[in-house]
Amino acid sequence: MEHIHGTYNLQLVILSYFIASLASYAALDLAGRVSLTSGRARHWWVACGAISMGLGIWSMHFVGMIAFVLPMHVSYSMDKVILSVLLAISASGVALEFAGRPSNRISKLVFAGLLMTAGITSMHYVGMAAMSVPITYEPTLVVLSVLIAALASYAALWLMFYFNRPESKYHWIYKIGSGLIMGLAIAGMHYTGMAAAHFYQAQVIPESLNRQVESEVLAYLIAAGTFVTIGLTLFGNFINQRMIQKDQRIRENEQWYHALYHNHSDAIVSVDREGIIKGINAVVTTITGYPEKRVIDRPINQIIEQINVQCSSKDNAHTWDNQELQQRHYMAKMRNTQNELLDLSIAVIPVIIDDTHVGSHILIKDITEETQAQQNIRHQALHDPLTGLPNRRKLDEVLASTIQVCEQKQHKFAVLVMDIDRFKMINDSLGHSIGDVFLKEVSSRIVTVIEASHPQANSNVTLARMGGDEFTMVVTGEQADEKQVVRLAEKIVEAIKQPYRLKENDFYVTASIGIAMYPEHGAGTDALIKHADSAMYEVKKNGKNGYQFYTAQLDSELYERIELEGYLRKALERNEMVLYYQPQIRTLDSRMIGVEALIRWQHPLKGLLAPDVFIPLAEETGMIYDIGNWTIREACRQMKLWHASGGPLIPVSVNLSSQQFHQSNLVEQVQNALTETGLEAKYLELEITESMMMDAAVSTAILNELSALGVKISLDDFGTGYSSLSYLKHFPIHKLKIDRSFVTDITESHSDQAIVATIISMAQNLKMEVIAEGIETKGQLDILMQNDCREIQGYYFSRPLPANEVENNFFVPLRLLGERNTVFHSV
Ligand code: C2E
Ligand code: MG
Ligand code: MG
Repeated sequence: MEHIHGTYNLQLVILSYFIASLASYAALDLAGRVSLTSGRARHWWVACGAISMGLGIWSMHFVGMIAFVLPMHVSYSMDKVILSVLLAISASGVALEFAGRPSNRISKLVFAGLLMTAGITSMHYVGMAAMSVPITYEPTLVVLSVLIAALASYAALWLMFYFNRPESKYHWIYKIGSGLIMGLAIAGMHYTGMAAAHFYQAQVIPESLNRQVESEVLAYLIAAGTFVTIGLTLFGNFINQRMIQKDQRIRENEQWYHALYHNHSDAIVSVDREGIIKGINAVVTTITGYPEKRVIDRPINQIIEQINVQCSSKDNAHTWDNQELQQRHYMAKMRNTQNELLDLSIAVIPVIIDDTHVGSHILIKDITEETQAQQNIRHQALHDPLTGLPNRRKLDEVLASTIQVCEQKQHKFAVLVMDIDRFKMINDSLGHSIGDVFLKEVSSRIVTVIEASHPQANSNVTLARMGGDEFTMVVTGEQADEKQVVRLAEKIVEAIKQPYRLKENDFYVTASIGIAMYPEHGAGTDALIKHADSAMYEVKKNGKNGYQFYTAQLDSELYERIELEGYLRKALERNEMVLYYQPQIRTLDSRMIGVEALIRWQHPLKGLLAPDVFIPLAEETGMIYDIGNWTIREACRQMKLWHASGGPLIPVSVNLSSQQFHQSNLVEQVQNALTETGLEAKYLELEITESMMMDAAVSTAILNELSALGVKISLDDFGTGYSSLSYLKHFPIHKLKIDRSFVTDITESHSDQAIVATIISMAQNLKMEVIAEGIETKGQLDILMQNDCREIQGYYFSRPLPANEVENNFFVPLRLLGERNTVFHSV
């Protein structure tokens, strides 16, 4: 039988393609939406999408069928039309369900593609079968149409899957392009399927005409289907667009929130109203050591207890619970899982949604370093960097608060001021770094004594370093009792007296401690310190190495000291300094072999003062440099004058103080004095003491330079300096002066005799001269002479005398005898 040839209505063909593309576009659009939703909304979107897309494909199909105009009456079976609609919708549902998943395996893609192909193909052929026209098919084209359907399905699935990702700026262009391509594929399938069909004139009238649909009706149905498709698509798109924008805003807000939450330098814990932890950021783990999984959904109070957070707030347990709906701040301390004690600053910020308090963000800042830095700064401001002890400022604070407490409770307390005697010497001669080592040792000895003295001593005694070698103690509580204070002072004096090993030598110093009691000796900080100070000076004045309580009498002494200092400053310019000279005698023939220049101060009110009264003051105030230089010059001048006027050609010895010895321009000063006065260097002797030569290297350098000038060096007060004898042979020392202390009791004391004999024989072995000081009696002289002491100095022969008396007493008799450089017999 000849099949009937149909013709295509071009407008309808174009319309069918337009519908196919529209349906495809809608499908792509909906796939994106499906992927963004979940739960019930997702089913809803799949269902809507399936209807929209299915109706779209179906409409395209039927418009394509109607576009094919057959020269006969064609009607459609209602059942099959409905079946074909259902098939189109099912195929679309499969596609959307698949494309809406975040990730899909290839196997699933293959399966979904097959289902979709089957759906579309069956929709098409069921739709064809709905026609009231006999049809035969050309197998090759049918197969081709199936293949195109498969191609269209896979393309659709791939594109839908591709478009379910977040939207880019030009996304919609790709989506339209893709819709057009997919539309082409679906239309291609349809028209290939149509080409496969051969239509024949119907022989039999369909069984149930009442269930047949006419083309016009079908056209209405299609129009309705298309309308629904377009409507749903447009509506969906509209909603979609709105929701995309909203979602975008939500996503952006979430990302802003996320960025703030997770990159915040503070730890953030989010809790609900019941205090259950709902979220934390990474810093929480860094600070506490707790990983997220160990804290999420647990009550914050449990965690707080576990990590031992000690809040400054009284209401420790409920710090998170912010019912007042205001920010609250706390300081806290916490021990983390690494057992580190951290300082925390906590802010509790209520979270309010729609006027309801739903929970709180707890912002926790680790301020350990800041707190530490602040404490360090405070510590530095209040402590001495060398010893780590409290400094003057801190002591003032302690004193002020102690006074306050003791005033209320009517308690007493003690202030002890301590000064190290001879510290200056150590510092000058060994250098500042050794001086520092020494001070540290001193402070640690005091601390040890304090700690050993009483179990609660640490809280009862504050030891501070006021600068230099000055230490102050505030003693409170039970230990502030006078007897206890005395015991403490005694122990400190004893501890300080022990030798110090510095630069491989033993050094000896002593401590002078002045004590003032509150309230007896003063009610305020200044008075107490001042009075303890004057007591301390009193100890120094009385030979150092001890302690003394303040007495009212001491005030006047302190005042005197200050007054004396004022006078001393003007003494040189007022020409009040005088040199006395004490002859040095050779025992063998009683010849005067030298004089020692000894300074005196003709005080305008107090009369003639001995060096012991003002030399320490001059050393403390630095006036010693000027006074010392004057002495050297004056002694040289006097000796040169005596030489020039026919006096004996003997040397003059001049005492140097420690500071003078370490004065950088000492050699220059000595040289100038010699040059200016014209005295030959060999007639000048400089007296130093053992204690000045603590640093062998420094002393050797100075002594060598002095010797190079031709000046002689004597070691004064020999035997009292505790120092090692080994240095003697290294130094250019010409003479040892045996200290007066060994001579005083020499007639009774065998040990003194032994010491003196030893010194004399040692000096002889070392090829040094030796002279004994302080001979007051014939008995002393005899013993010394028995021990082969060849030179002596002492009241027995002469006291120190002013220059003119030396001339009268010694030179005149010599001249009368016509001798120069000659004998003098004892007076
Ligand atoms: P020194 O250098 O050991 O001087 C000897 C001291 O002993 C002198 O005391 C002297 O008067 C005293 N003396 C001498 N013979 C006897 C004696 O037989 N019996 C007693 N009891 N004393 C005797 P002076 O002049 O009071 O000097 C005391 C110290 O002052 C000196 O001890 C010396 O270290 C220091 N000094 C004196 N003049 C100066 C000076 O110009 N510069 C410096 N830096 N120190 C000086
Ligand atoms: Mg001397
Ligand atoms: Mg001496």
